[in-house]
Amino acid sequence: MTNERKPKKPREQYRLRTRLIHGSFATGRWDYDHHVVPPQSSSATYRLSSVHRGAQGFIEFATPESRRAPIYIYDRLDEPSRGMLEENLAVAEGGEVAVTFATGMAAVSGALGILTASGDQIVAHQVLYGCTHSLMTSWLPRYKIHTDFCDLCNPETLASVVTKQCRVVYFETPVNPTMELIDLQAVRRVVDRLNTGRADEERIRIVVDNTFSTPYCQRPLEHGVDLVVHSLTKDIGGFGTEMGGAVIGANEYFNLLMLYRKDFGGVLSPKNAWPILVYGLPTLATRMVNQQKSAMQVAEFLQRQAKVARVLYPGLPNFPQRELARRQMTTPDGAFAPGCMLYFELKGRDGTGNSAAEAAERFVDYVAEKSYTVTLAVSLGQIKTLIENPFSMTHAAIPDEEKIRCGLQPGGIRLSLGLEDWHDIIADLEDALEVV
Ligand SMILES: *Cc1c(COP(=O)(O)O)cnc(C)c1O
Repeated sequence: MTNERKPKKPREQYRLRTRLIHGSFATGRWDYDHHVVPPQSSSATYRLSSVHRGAQGFIEFATPESRRAPIYIYDRLDEPSRGMLEENLAVAEGGEVAVTFATGMAAVSGALGILTASGDQIVAHQVLYGCTHSLMTSWLPRYKIHTDFCDLCNPETLASVVTKQCRVVYFETPVNPTMELIDLQAVRRVVDRLNTGRADEERIRIVVDNTFSTPYCQRPLEHGVDLVVHSLTKDIGGFGTEMGGAVIGANEYFNLLMLYRKDFGGVLSPKNAWPILVYGLPTLATRMVNQQKSAMQVAEFLQRQAKVARVLYPGLPNFPQRELARRQMTTPDGAFAPGCMLYFELKGRDGTGNSAAEAAERFVDYVAEKSYTVTLAVSLGQIKTLIENPFSMTHAAIPDEEKIRCGLQPGGIRLSLGLEDWHDIIADLEDALEVV
C-alpha cells in the first residue's frame, strides 16, 4: 500500500454522507487507490501462487484474520467488489461487519439460518413482509423451527410468548405496510430480562429488517438490536436495477454468516454489488432527504382530502406514535427522519370496508392508467414513485382475517415516494381522487 492516501483526519471523523461516497480504496483486501471509481471485478476463480497459499486460504476463510487480508480463492467464498460494499454497509449501519447476499430474502434466511436450529422458536411481529412471513410459516417448520407471532407494538407481550427454546425475536419498524412503529429500546429491555440466566448459546437475539427506514433514517444497532437485515433492492440500491441483501452486526456473527453463505450459495454477484457500491449507497442520503420532503408534502395533501379516511406517515404531527418516531427515526446527525413510505385509506361510499376497498381499487387503477408520475408496482425505495395495494399484493401470503385483525385493510394503499417534483405527484393523485 505504498501510495495510499493519508487524509489528515481519520475517515471515521467524517460524516456518513461523505464516507458513503468515498469508502476506503486501499486496504489489505484490495488496492484501488489510483481509481476514482472502484473497478468491477469479474473473476469466478483466483490464481494461487502455491499449494501452500491455497491451503492457507481455506484455513483462513471466514475467520477474523481473513478480513484484514483474505486469500481470494473463489467468488462464492469472498470477492473484493462485494467486500468494498460490505465495508460501506457496515459503516452505514454502525455495525462491525456486513455480509451481503443475493437478495433481501437470502439475507433474512441467512440471519435466521445462523441463529436457529431444529427445535428452536422464533417470535415475530404479527405483520411482516409477505415472503418473510411465508419463510417462517411454510419452510422453516420443515426443519422444526417454529414461529409464534405476537404484537410487538406492546413489547411486554413477548414475556408470555417466548419459550425456553426461543432464539430470535424478529420484526420490521416501521411495520410494512401499516407504518406502526416498534420501540427498539423497549424490546431490548424485555429481551435482556428474558435472557437473564441463559447460557450464551441459548440467548435470544433481536433481528430487525431495516429496509423501510434505511440506515440514513434509523440505525437499529445503536438502539441495542443484535442483527440488522436489508433488502438492498430497495432504497439502498435506489434505482431499481439490482437485487441484493445484507446482514449487519457484530464481529461474532461474521464466521457463521460467511460459512452459511458459502454453503447455501446465495452470494451477491460482484456485477450487482458494483452499482449498489457506486450509485446506490453514495446517493442514499441525497435521495432520502428529497424523497422524505415529498413524502411530507404528499402526506399533508392527502390528510386535507375529504375522500381520505386516514394517512399514516411518521412525519405528520398527528402520527399516533409521534414521540417514538422522533426518538428512533433520526439521521446520523440527529435530525428527525421519518422516511419516504406512507400508507393511507380512502373512505367508502357507505362507510363499510368493502366500499372502501372498491374506492381504493378504482383509485389505484386510475393512477395505473392515467398518472405519469405514480407507477403501480410492488417494491419500494426507487427514484420513481410507486403505489400498490398491500392487502391483495405484497401481503397476499398472510390470511385475510389475520390482516384485518392487525389493521391492514383491504382498501389500504401504500406509496413509496420517489424523486419526481412533488407538485406533479400531488396533481396526479388529485386527478385520481376525483374519480372515486
Ligand atoms: C423487499 C423486501 C424484502 C425482500 O427483499 P428482496 O430483495 O426482494 O429479496 C424483505 N423485507 C422488506 C421489508 C422488503 O421490503
